[in-house]
This record gives sequence, structure tokens and C-alpha cells, in this order.
Amino acid sequence: MNSTVESIRPSATLAIAAKAKELAAKGVRICSFAAGEPDFDTPQVIKDAACRAIAAGQTKYTAAKGMPALCEAVAAKFRRVNGISYDPATEIIVSSGGKQSLFFAFQALLDRGEEAIVPSPFWLSYPEMIRLAGGRARFVRTSARSGYKLTPEQLRRAVRPRTRAVVLNYPSNPTGAVYTAAELRALGETAVELGLWIVADEMYERMVYTGEPFASIASLSPAIRARTVTVNGCSKAYSMTGWRIGYAGAPAEVVRAMTACQSHCASNPCTPAQFAALAALTDPAAEEAVQPMLRAFAERSERIYALLRAVKGVRVAKPAGAFYIFPNVKAFGLGSIEFCHRLLEERHVAAVPGAPFGDDGCIRFSYACSMENIEEGMARFREFCDSLRG
Ligand code: PLP
Repeated sequence: MNSTVESIRPSATLAIAAKAKELAAKGVRICSFAAGEPDFDTPQVIKDAACRAIAAGQTKYTAAKGMPALCEAVAAKFRRVNGISYDPATEIIVSSGGKQSLFFAFQALLDRGEEAIVPSPFWLSYPEMIRLAGGRARFVRTSARSGYKLTPEQLRRAVRPRTRAVVLNYPSNPTGAVYTAAELRALGETAVELGLWIVADEMYERMVYTGEPFASIASLSPAIRARTVTVNGCSKAYSMTGWRIGYAGAPAEVVRAMTACQSHCASNPCTPAQFAALAALTDPAAEEAVQPMLRAFAERSERIYALLRAVKGVRVAKPAGAFYIFPNVKAFGLGSIEFCHRLLEERHVAAVPGAPFGDDGCIRFSYACSMENIEEGMARFREFCDSLRG
């Protein structure tokens, strides 16, 4: 057996999900905050595009890096929305989900034993992807006090001779943190000075509640752009998690290496799903369809924050983006895994422990769920916390 693969931990969220399913099968009404996906259906205009493609026989292999029309649409989106200019022929790759783009980015950037800096708390797939690429994650702790943001000084202090990359995820899963353009510029300039690659995961770009425009790090200077892999996708933005379309923009040498990996692992992303993504990125009706979803996320963000803030013993920061909130429950004296298991068993509320995200004092609620679920779930959560305080 391959020892690296053997050491990969299966997603720690699965145990909670399995238990929630088991209880639901017994007829228990679960309030779930576990899912990392929008609760909305994929807009009809996107589904129709895929159906038309299938009917027209678009069911064969495409170019390994995605079909040219979709690469062009992705490049146009990066230019229009993010202010980054990428050559669609050499600097764009479309993959089977943002996850696969990230996986290939680490394969391309890291050699055996090299390090990538991962600010903690982090999305739990980064360390495992880095390990599968033969690399090592070097975690740098951020705190609620600093808005869960990495500073240039922390980045500088964390660098070792074999450090090659830094991962920046904004808005963040699990904390909801979002960097300002000024913060990104400072981090980007520091990374360039240190000779690091930047892996910018902008998957939750559309869900920002600060009132400030979203800034992409690669748009902030040519020198930063030359060292950045910008990852994004359709899953969260268009409620397309099951279609598996993600994409990345990066300098040609990186896209070439990522494409070589993809050509041997997957050939290309699913062809009808590429047609669906093309509609998502180019049809104004798709854009119109996501507006109510974005408004709903903003309203839910306000509401769940207000409800959590009112729970005695819980400390919580207002999420600036994404659809997660990451309250600190350390005061109750339980580890996050035990806390979540008991919350599920005793009050039938499914939340995800913070431990696998790098913070055992916190738990993660996803508010990609109905307002009713938020109201009832938070009432049960408050009762649970009251019972723990005894
Ligand atoms: N990046 C972050 C921070 C995520 O939370 C996710 C999904 O949960 C992804 C990337 C990957 O999304 P997908 O592979 O569905 O495009």
C-alpha cells in the first residue's frame, strides 16, 4: 500500500453526517447545518443548456483543459468580474470541480518534501491535497481577534528554506473571513518578495456581506499575478455542486503542468456539464437566477449571527462572507467532536466539529439551509448550551 495514501484521513464530517442520517431514518427531525452546498436548485437555464447539449450529441471527450468556448468564457469572466487578464488558450483550465483544480495546482507547484503555508483554521481538504502531492502543510494560526486573517509578518515568519506556496481562501470556509484589497496587496507583495506561489481559492466570491467589492489577489499587480493560481468554480456560485465544474487561471507553465495531470487522471471534465457551465457564465438569465440566492444567504447570515450572539457562553465573529459561521464553544469544556455528537444526540442538531478545520474550540454551522431550519436549530442549540451550563 502507498503509505501517504494510507495516512489520508477520511473526511471527519462523515461520522456526523452518517449519524444524522441514521437518526433521520428512524423518523427523528434533524436540524442540519452540516452541508457545504447551497440548498437551491440549479437554475433552469443551466439545466436546459446541458439537456440541449446531450440531445445534440455533445457526449464525447473534449480538450483535456476544457473545451475552448468554455475556457474563453472563463477568461472573459476573470477579466470582467475580477480584473485579471488570462489567455484562454494557455492560462485557463477547467476541471471536475474546484477541488480538482486545487489538487492539480498542488501537484504542479510542490516537489517532494516542499511546504505550503496554510492559515488555520483552514478548509480541511488543503492539508490532504498537499500531502498527496508529496508536500507538507505548515499551519499558521490566526484568531478571531485578527478576523481570522493571515498578516504579512506571520507569513514572513513562517517561511522555511523549502516553503514554496501559501494558500489563501477568501471568503473562508470555515470562518467566513474576507481580505480587503489592501490586505491582499500586502500579502501578495510579501509572497512575491519571498518567492512563493499563491494559491488563491475564491470559490465563495459571490457571497460577501461587507459592502466592499470582492478583490482578487492576482488583479492587484502584474508581479502578484505572475505567482498566483486563481481557483474558482460553478458549485457555490450557481448552486451546481453535483455538476463538478471548477476552473483556474494561472501562468502558462502552471496550467501546462495541471493539464498534463488532468489528461492522465480524468481526460477532461464531463462534457454536458461543461455546456451547463458555459450557460452559467454567459447567459444573463443564469445571473438573474442567482440574485435571490445571494440575497437569501445575506439575510440568513445576519439572522444566524444575531441568534448565536445571544447564546450565553458562545463567542462568535460576524461572518464577512461564504455561508458558514464558526462560533467558539470552548467555554462549555467539551472538545468539538464530543460537543457535536452530543448536540446531535440530545437536540438533533447537526453541526460540524472544528477540530478537522484546525480549531477544536469551535464548531461550524452552514447556513445554506432554510430560515425555518435556522430559527428552530438555533433555539435547540441555545437549549443545549443552557443544559451544559447546568
Ligand atoms: N474550496 C473551498 C474552500 C470549498 O469549501 C470547496 C467545497 O466545499 C471547494 C473549494 C471545492 O468545491 P467544488 O469542488 O465543488 O468546486
